[in-house]
Amino acid sequence: MDENVSAIATPPGKGGVAIIRISGKNPLSVAEKMFSPVGKIKVADFEPYRLYPGRIDGGAFTDYGLCVYFKAPASYTGEDVVEFQCHGGESVARGILKTTFKHGARSAGRGEFTKRAFLNGKLSLASAEGIADMINGESEAEVRAGYLLYSEKLTQKIRSAQNELKEILAGIGAAVDYPEEGIEEDTTDEIKDKLGVIVEELSALASGYASGRKIKSGVTVAICGKPNTGKSSLLNRLLGYEKAIVSDVAGTTRDAVEGAIEIHGVKFNLYDTAGLRESEDRIESIGIGKAEAIIRAADVAVFVADYTALSEEDARALAYVKDKPLIKVFNKIDLADDTPTDADVHTSALTGEGVQRLKELLYEKGIGDRGEDAAFLIEERHFAALMRAIESLKRAVDACGIMPLDLVGIDVKEAWETLGEITGETASETIVDEIFSKFCVGK
Ligand code: GDP
Repeated sequence: MDENVSAIATPPGKGGVAIIRISGKNPLSVAEKMFSPVGKIKVADFEPYRLYPGRIDGGAFTDYGLCVYFKAPASYTGEDVVEFQCHGGESVARGILKTTFKHGARSAGRGEFTKRAFLNGKLSLASAEGIADMINGESEAEVRAGYLLYSEKLTQKIRSAQNELKEILAGIGAAVDYPEEGIEEDTTDEIKDKLGVIVEELSALASGYASGRKIKSGVTVAICGKPNTGKSSLLNRLLGYEKAIVSDVAGTTRDAVEGAIEIHGVKFNLYDTAGLRESEDRIESIGIGKAEAIIRAADVAVFVADYTALSEEDARALAYVKDKPLIKVFNKIDLADDTPTDADVHTSALTGEGVQRLKELLYEKGIGDRGEDAAFLIEERHFAALMRAIESLKRAVDACGIMPLDLVGIDVKEAWETLGEITGETASETIVDEIFSKFCVGK
């Protein structure tokens, strides 16, 4: 990583300011050849973390901007870093970037700055993934979760489990090396207990993925019920604009219409389904088939009936959603004389009554009691590794007292290594490369 690499750190397009970043062994030597500071100071004498105004060489033009030097290891990458802030035109930034190449820097690959930070021990692999989650985050909750990952919340938990496993491995090593002490039996019981506790801790952590997954990709909500109960109208109310087509003729919502809303910063993907009823109409039947698929895949089903209590047809339709977290809605409450009781919420898509309560219920059912507490477990990669480590540890627990301790140790070691894939310690080059290839150039 001796080479100086450079890239435009700001997104393509026009803006107030663009930033060109150089990182490596000696980015100041590049800056020296293309930046003329105002006043008597020389680039080589720049104090770190101070902005210096001056002229930046863009090849075919000159820009007036700022230059800042970050001294290793107190920089993003852990190496010496120089950044130019220039006027935010694409040609301006590109010209300055090209000039850095002329003076010896090479073009940075995707995520290369963050990869260097990882390789220099500035952050764990999970933390780097948190940065990507923040950048790509489509909802506030995803950004919040990304920040927790970035700030090593998950890494700390994983490292502490790894340390406990290391101690257990040391205990196993001692018992195996000195069998004459006769301590193996006691040690086995103790190890079994300790492993059991770690399995519980890691399982509790893994259970956070139930909400973490939804925070990353959004909670899928299927709005279902028999035709003409006001599903499309309710969806429009939730979305706050006219998206689904509302019609008086039953069975016209033939396709799932998608829209997304944020509730307390969490993304909810809403699907309107065609009326759940048996139909002679082939096109409508296709719609019904789709509706079933959507309901099966949904995290929460919103079942809409109209205010006139549940009909037999409703009861049949309800059978489709019986295994889901379900919110029963009585809609068109504006037309009702009495408030029907058998529902979780009464709404009027016409007046908006009850819609806020429906949103609260969606959040409760969708994200659950644990809310965003454990929401830093949002990456499938982390969850999968965690589950593999738990499996290895369960095998180790089962083997205690049945197999010799050194064989138990193999599973414990395997769990330790698998956990290391999350933090990056034991992640293969392929995994590391794949993760950083998803970053943008300049990050
Ligand atoms: P869907 O078939 O379940 O999607 O139902 P639509 O949303 O197409 O609504 C069917 C009819 O009921 C339309 O004429 C809507 O204007 C009407 N409607 C929907 N919600 C309400 C409501 O809360 N109150 C009243 N009075 N009419 C509603």
